[in-house]
Amino acid sequence: MARVITDPVPRAAAKRREYDRSDAIVTMPLGKDGRVPALARALAQAMAEGTTAPVQRAGIRLLDELAAFYGVPVPPLRVLGVRPHKVSAGVCTYQLFGDYTPKTQQIRVWMRTAIREKVSSPKALLNTLLHEFCHHLDCTRLACPESYHTRGFFTRIDHLYHHALETPPEKRRPLRWIKRGAVWSVDWRLLGRR
Ligand SMILES: [Zn+2]
Repeated sequence: MARVITDPVPRAAAKRREYDRSDAIVTMPLGKDGRVPALARALAQAMAEGTTAPVQRAGIRLLDELAAFYGVPVPPLRVLGVRPHKVSAGVCTYQLFGDYTPKTQQIRVWMRTAIREKVSSPKALLNTLLHEFCHHLDCTRLACPESYHTRGFFTRIDHLYHHALETPPEKRRPLRWIKRGAVWSVDWRLLGRR
């Protein structure tokens, strides 16, 4: 999984209020009819074909279902190839997994890794797609237009992600946060410990 680090707390009072509100929302309603998990499996299968068109179609079906469930507009989706990235002294220092544009509500995800240009793991792509969808929910349903990366934001993605994967409850681990200066990051060491 990608690094999980929050945005720093903003200084301006109104933005701070949005940040704190987002941070405090740590659950979300989830469907019980199995549709999202089925569509997530179909997305994983589409990735095996190695081209963007079937992945885009499967991704749109998943977003259609999620948007209907949460009562928000369907965000347009584009699935693209190799992740945009930066290389410095032969080392990949940055790669973009996906993004969301509030103005157009468009989600973009990239399905091939930087450098080696291999099809990414289905779980990584699912996590990216749900991450961007959670930005969409922030901007539409939750009245959080800045859509900060807060602990609450990542916790909401985590709920949706394990719902989509149908992770059994006993295999779930609550996210454990450690403070690093002005930001929080997930401690994967603690997460793995039983
Ligand atoms: Zn984000």
